[in-house]
Amino acid sequence: MKNLLLIVNPRSGRAKMGPALLSVVEIFSKADYSVTVYPTKEREDATRKVETLKTGDYDLIVVCGGDGTLNEVITGLMRSSADVPIGYIPAGTLNEWSTGLGISKVIRTAAKDIVKGKEITLDIGKFGDKYFTYTASFGAFTSASYSANQDIKNVLGQAAYFFEGIKSLGAIKPIHLKFEADGRVIEDNFLFGAVSNSMSVGGIVKFDQSVVKLNDGLFEVLLIKNPSNILKLQPMLDGILKQELNRDGMEFFHTSKITVTNGEGLDWTLDGEKATSGKTLEITNCKNAVRFIVPKKGEK
Ligand SMILES: [Mg+2]
Repeated sequence: MKNLLLIVNPRSGRAKMGPALLSVVEIFSKADYSVTVYPTKEREDATRKVETLKTGDYDLIVVCGGDGTLNEVITGLMRSSADVPIGYIPAGTLNEWSTGLGISKVIRTAAKDIVKGKEITLDIGKFGDKYFTYTASFGAFTSASYSANQDIKNVLGQAAYFFEGIKSLGAIKPIHLKFEADGRVIEDNFLFGAVSNSMSVGGIVKFDQSVVKLNDGLFEVLLIKNPSNILKLQPMLDGILKQELNRDGMEFFHTSKITVTNGEGLDWTLDGEKATSGKTLEITNCKNAVRFIVPKKGEK
């Protein structure tokens, strides 16, 4: 019998987990796992639980919660010496990252898919002493605006509206930053920036599927500069819509490491959670850092 640690966040977004949780345990139990259920008690509890694990304690960790809980578990795993694969049952606000990996929104289906799934490796981002799975971003699209916009169909129209709206209200203060990556130096005033390992950022910025690989050791970096006048903003927003990310005022490139200076005290969002940068911030891609279970396509 194999040992499975099921980390559940009882407070996650859409979690009405009660009856579903029992079925999840049953699904894993039938697949010959001895299941230990660990309900998280507070923020960072999952990190503390996982960071003390050693290889051999468990054969599989399954996270049932939102992005925040997944992030906490991955953070714990990155800090631990354990080499354990992770499965994810999204029970919080849905995100395009997990959808992109083919993970079901239906709790029971996601659990069955883990049992029958296959293992891949994923790159993890290191942000100072924190970690992220899919995005570190700052500026216009970050924080509260994220979740509010996620379900809206015409997301970009909405985002453009939002972007322009709050800019004219003065709510987006351009941030003067210096980025250095692979000998490239970009110093300017920015409205938005994202360092990601994902097909999209916040459901708003979507990348061409062919340029993003989740285990190539590279991030995608998108920076949007503060336009000298409002008329220059629209072509940039169109660029995002058309996935033409090298227009005037925008920078888009791949890198394994990026250094950000001048951003002391700046709020970033890591996988939907707030983080603050120091005077110098290093964001590093930890290649193939975690083993992750994804559904086998076409085998339901
Ligand atoms: Mg990548």
